[in-house]
Amino acid sequence: MTDVLQDNLAKADAYLHRFRGEPLGHFINGQATAGDGGTPFDNATPVDGGALNTVLAGTETDIDAAARAASDAFADWRAMPGKQRRALLHKVADLIESRAEEIAFVECMDTGQALRFMSKAAIRGAENYRFFADKAPEAGNGLSLPAQQHMNYTIRQPIGPVGVITPWNTPFMLSTWKIAPALAAGCTVVHKPAEWSPLTAMLLMEIMTEAGVPPGVVNLVNGMGEQAGRALTEHPAIKAIAFIGESATGSRIMAQGAPTLKRVHFELGGKNPVIVFDDADLDRAVDAAVFMIYSLNGERCTSSSRLLVQQGLYDSFVERVAERVENLKVGHPLDPATEIGPLIHRRHFDKVSSYFGTAVEDGATVRVGGGSPEGAGYYVSPTLFTQATNTMRIAQEEIFGPVLTAIPFADENEALAIANDIPYGLAGYVWTNDLGRSIRMAHGLEAGMIWVNSENNRHLPAPFGGMKSSGIGRDGGDYSFDFYMETKNVCLAMGGHGIPQLGTS
Ligand code: NAD
Repeated sequence: MTDVLQDNLAKADAYLHRFRGEPLGHFINGQATAGDGGTPFDNATPVDGGALNTVLAGTETDIDAAARAASDAFADWRAMPGKQRRALLHKVADLIESRAEEIAFVECMDTGQALRFMSKAAIRGAENYRFFADKAPEAGNGLSLPAQQHMNYTIRQPIGPVGVITPWNTPFMLSTWKIAPALAAGCTVVHKPAEWSPLTAMLLMEIMTEAGVPPGVVNLVNGMGEQAGRALTEHPAIKAIAFIGESATGSRIMAQGAPTLKRVHFELGGKNPVIVFDDADLDRAVDAAVFMIYSLNGERCTSSSRLLVQQGLYDSFVERVAERVENLKVGHPLDPATEIGPLIHRRHFDKVSSYFGTAVEDGATVRVGGGSPEGAGYYVSPTLFTQATNTMRIAQEEIFGPVLTAIPFADENEALAIANDIPYGLAGYVWTNDLGRSIRMAHGLEAGMIWVNSENNRHLPAPFGGMKSSGIGRDGGDYSFDFYMETKNVCLAMGGHGIPQLGTS
């Protein structure tokens, strides 16, 4: 063990100490609370499967208390001048930055994500707050739509208390991505984090409270999807649900929210192609293809999990990728050298591992990996499947691990056909130096986000979201406000137009 890892373990231990006493409860109306006293469940670290802490499974009563708190706080929060909200949200960002190491270390131990990526998670979370903070004063602005005899204009108003339901892959960053625009818009929030990674959500609540976000404006209920999550989606006081997670869960949430006509925003699964043409800058394409599937343990919605390579280039390109994959450093998430950490949970480890057999059954070749290193923890070896076809399960199903499926294609038409022959439509990556082809591919790909000659490079004003089974709606920039706000039209008569007269004769 290196000295740095030893130091980091000691620091992580100190940061995690506070979670080891009483079970982690909820945060409602400005207070940490055990609420209804739901059944405690264990939260383990993927590093060795050992217990980190226990967590209370929130009940319908807890969700009701949180939704009421969010409702009661809504009138004052929406009335707060945008400039004041902006200052408050910048203060949240300052405090996130000041606790960046704690957030990163806790997140690494809770999720298994490597420090080299998680050290940026808090900073990205802070950026989310700053970006939406600056938009808060103008969030309500609309359009001017003059007509002959009338003046129409639109304004936007916050929709009300909203539910935010997040997954476990990068929990802190994703929760800020939802909560920051909701608050900037003037909505109040009830957050239900994933049961496999509950810790940093509570840190965020503490930070927001310390920054001065008033009681009830943000609330947190821990617990299970089928209980706390379901109750949140069914609660009549909650006007909209922003959800990130699996496509199947999205369908369930839509059904659960139907009786109360919930507005929904879904960021769901992906099986994204990275398409490499033979005229591409291959050095950069190798870097990007490897980065986009093996960073964040491959537990990333925008991961490039299907590698489509033009036939003549296929063998040599795949060999270059294989060399990199063989060289990836699997290790403890708190070791700065680690590139791949353990997967989040035993169940997810079993799911990802099951594809090693599936690949062989379906006739693909396991070129690299296909197993797990010896020892404790939910580690899998980074894996590369070759000689795959797009109909195989390894090409059609979201594995959500450090596992890449390489498929050859003949020409542009076939590349497009293979890329689109999938239920998902989140992201697509195209590598070519032919300008016309890059535009044709970008327009032809059935996906919400296309990157040409780039890895996933985020720009906060740009729309983020998926087509098909990958989602409904877009986040980012003004798109977030379209979700968290109602657009209202105001029509003013100039005074001279004829009003139809009834009952006059
Ligand atoms: P999941 O759908 O199992 O769980 C996500 C959240 O939903 C958890 O908090 C869970 O408790 C809750 N939930 C489960 N059932 C529910 C129900 N019936 N009602 C209400 N809430 C319920 O997803 P996961 O396994 O935690 O996360 C991995 C998935 O998330 C992958 O499919 C990944 O692609 C997706 N994801 C998508 C994006 C994106 O931006 N498109 C980003 C990150 C992750």
